[in-house]
Amino acid sequence: MRNFSEPTLREARRIIHDAQRIAVLTGSGMSSESGVPTFRDAQTGLWEKYSPEQLATRDAMANQPALVWSWMLHQARVMRSVTPHEGHTTLGRWQKHLIDTGGSLDIITQNIDDLHERADAEVLAHLHGTTFTFRCFECNAPSDYELEDATEEQLEARPELDQLVLEDPPNCRDCHGGYIRPDIVMFGEFLPQRAMDDALEAVRVADVALVVGTSNIVQPAASLPIVASAAGAKVIEINPSETPLSQDADVYINGTARTILPELYSQ
Ligand code: NAD
Ligand code: ZN
Repeated sequence: MRNFSEPTLREARRIIHDAQRIAVLTGSGMSSESGVPTFRDAQTGLWEKYSPEQLATRDAMANQPALVWSWMLHQARVMRSVTPHEGHTTLGRWQKHLIDTGGSLDIITQNIDDLHERADAEVLAHLHGTTFTFRCFECNAPSDYELEDATEEQLEARPELDQLVLEDPPNCRDCHGGYIRPDIVMFGEFLPQRAMDDALEAVRVADVALVVGTSNIVQPAASLPIVASAAGAKVIEINPSETPLSQDADVYINGTARTILPELYSQ
């Protein structure tokens, strides 16, 4: 069923048609149709006992290292096992086209997966880090830990995460005591300054900010569409559920990333 209206889509296409500089802000809804659940979708298994906000913290890692590490590893394995969808590949083609014609399409993502990159799109800013590089929890030294391909059994634990087989995190070779963790931003930690600076610069110069699959409540990422709008950009939002941004967006499209992005750009 098409639950978005044609006039809304036409209005978005009209705005996009003249845009040379587009900033695309993506959240976990961008990846959900590839098979990576958003946090708010994942209400089963482990989530009955712990919320992601409780697990992805420094305190939780210090107090329950095996649980937190095993959960993060599981997430990383799921992300590696899935493939980008048409929404991701559309952004890859669109970015190439705009660059070839003197414009830009800057992707700013809150996602810690690499689905944009695997769809041949360059990501300007990973605001919440990435789950595929690792460092020491204590001394921050980069780690050469490499994620192995998941076994069928490991992947089948999804989504009943209470089936997780707990593993202890490896130890750092530099300080010998610290646990290894992925390079993601845990709740309560600061965002990488460089990524945030790049994101702010991109939204300030954008003609259009395209906001896809984010609930627009996690700060400071949620402020980026507002900065874009204040600097003169038109804001187009794609999300099957309304968010605090929807009322203020120039165009709110009630639909999913996989369906709508190819409708907006079809070259
Ligand atoms: P979030 O708060 O941004 O919420 C997800 C949003 O996506 C919701 O507004 C939902 O309505 C929307 N959505 C769901 N399906 C969609 C679809 N098919 N198309 C478009 N929009 C859709 O994100 P969260 O899940 O609460 O996660 C919080 C943080 O946790 C993220 O910012 C990220 O750092 C991390 N996280 C990352 C991933 C990933 O990398 N794939 C997955 C889960 C969580
Ligand atoms: Zn260390």
